[in-house]
Amino acid sequence: MTDIKRNFIAGEWVAGPSEIENRNPSDLSDLVGTFTQASAAQLDDALEAAARAQAEWAGYALERKQAVLLAIGNEMMERAEELGTLLSREEGKPLAEGKGEVFRAGQFFTYYAHEVLRQLGENADSVRAGVEIDVRREPVGVVAIISPWNFPTATASWKIAPALAYGNAVLWKPANVTPASAVALTEIIAKQDIPAGLFNLVMGAGSEVGQRLVESPKLDAISFTGSVPVGRGIAQAAVGNFTRVQMEMGSKNALAVMDDADLDLAVTIALGGAFGGTGQKCTASSRLIVHEAVHDAFVEKLVAGAKAMKVGHALEPGTQMGPVVSEGQLTENLSWVEKGRAEGAELACGGERLSLDHDGYYMSPGVFLGTTNDMEINREEMFAPLTSVIKVGSYDEALSVVNDTRFGLVSGIATTSLARATHFRRNARTGVVTVNLPTAGTDYHVPFGGRGESSYGPREQGIHARDFYTVVKTAYISAGTPD
Ligand code: NDP
Repeated sequence: MTDIKRNFIAGEWVAGPSEIENRNPSDLSDLVGTFTQASAAQLDDALEAAARAQAEWAGYALERKQAVLLAIGNEMMERAEELGTLLSREEGKPLAEGKGEVFRAGQFFTYYAHEVLRQLGENADSVRAGVEIDVRREPVGVVAIISPWNFPTATASWKIAPALAYGNAVLWKPANVTPASAVALTEIIAKQDIPAGLFNLVMGAGSEVGQRLVESPKLDAISFTGSVPVGRGIAQAAVGNFTRVQMEMGSKNALAVMDDADLDLAVTIALGGAFGGTGQKCTASSRLIVHEAVHDAFVEKLVAGAKAMKVGHALEPGTQMGPVVSEGQLTENLSWVEKGRAEGAELACGGERLSLDHDGYYMSPGVFLGTTNDMEINREEMFAPLTSVIKVGSYDEALSVVNDTRFGLVSGIATTSLARATHFRRNARTGVVTVNLPTAGTDYHVPFGGRGESSYGPREQGIHARDFYTVVKTAYISAGTPD
C-alpha cells in the first residue's frame, strides 16, 4: 500500500480528500511520494487550533521557546546530507546545493533561537508627571506562510523560524511541486515541545488551499514568496481583511561588467549567478550589462563556460546544473528562447531541451547576445537557465540600464575601481547590491528584500524580520505615591 504523506493539523497527522504524486525531475520514473491535499474544513480546523496554541506559546518561558528553535535548527544541520538528498531529488538542484540549503535553513532556526532572548525594549517618561511609558513588542498572532518550490526548505525556514521565535502560530502552505521537503521539516517541528496547533502544514494547490487561506479573516499576517501576479492577488485579498502582508516576488537582476573588471572573476560570477539552481532564483543574474571595451573577450569566455557546464541528474557526482523543476516550467523556458529569437536576440549557445540517460526536464544553459534592455527577455522574469548580454559604452550607461526595470531585488558590479563600486552601491535602485560577487547568495543575519515589484512590506531575515512578526504596544503606568 502506498505511504501517503499527510498534513499536520492541530497536532495530528491527517489525510485529506485527495492526493498528488510527486516525481523526481531528474528521473521521472522515480516517484518521490504521494501527498495528501487539505480540505476547506481542515483549513478551518488549523486556523482555530493555531489561535488557541498561539496564546499558550506566547506564555512559554523564553528558554523553553529558545530550546525548541535550537533543537529544530541543530537537527536540520545534523541531517543536512539526508534532507539535502531528498530536496535535490524532488527539486532538481545539484546535491551540494541541496545539502547547503538544508544546512542554511537550520542556521535560520539557530539564529532566531538567539533572537528569542533579545528582549530589550524601550521606555520613556510620560509628558504627565508620575507616569511612565513601556514600549514592547508582542506577537502579531496567526501567520500564513506561502512558500515556493525553488528553495523549498530555506525560504520556508526564513519565515517559520522568526514567526515562531517572536511568539506566533503558523499555517504553512508549501508549493505543491516540492511537498517532500515540507513534510520532512514538519516532522522535525512536530516532535518538539510545542502546543498542538502552533504549527500546521496544509498542503494543496495554491489556487484552492492557498487562495482560501489568504482570504481568511482569521489570519493576522501573510508572508509570501513567489510570482508577481499571485503576490498581487494575495495583497488584494489581505487588504480586504486588513491582514498584514510581506512578499518577495520576481526580479530582473543585472550584473554590470566594467572595462576595468577582473574578467575571469566576472565570468565566474556571471556563470554562477545565471545558472546556479538552473537559473530558478529570484536573485539570478539574468541581465549581463557589459562594457563594450571588454564585451567580446567576456562573451567568448562566458559562452565557453556555459557550453562546458555539465547538465545532469541532481544526485550524480559532477553535475553542475540539474533539470528544470517541472514540465510546465520547461515549456515556459523554451517559449522564452523562441520569444528572444523572435525579437532579434542571437542565441550563442544552449537553450535546448536535452535528452540524457534519465528521462527528466533537462535544458542546456543559454546565452543571448546582441540584446537591448527593451526586449521582453530583459523586462520579464524568465526563471530559466537563460541570460542576456547587453552591451553598453560607459559606466553611466550601465547604471542607467541596471535601474531601468520595474523590479529591484539585486544588482551587482564587477569592477576594480573603488570609485565606481562605491557610486554603484549607493545609486543602484535595488534592495541588495553586490560588488565582485554573484547576485545570488545572501546571508541569514541581515535583511533581504527589494524595491519596485520585487518586494512589498517589511524586510525578511536578520533582526528586521521582527518588524513583520511583532506588533508594538505602548503601555502607560501611573505608579502612584509610596506611603
Ligand atoms: P506561484 O507564485 O504560483 O507560487 C508560489 C506559491 O504560491 C506556491 O506555494 C503556490 O502554490 C502558491 N499560490 C499560487 N497561487 C496562489 C493563490 N491564488 N493564493 C495563495 N497561494 C497561491 O509561482 P509558480 O510556482 O507558479 O512559478 C511561476 C513563476 O513565479 C516562476 O516562473 C517565477 O518567475 C516566479 N517565482 C518566483 C519565486 C521567487 O523566489 N521570487 C519563486 C517561485 C516562482 P502551488 O505552487 O502549490 O500551486
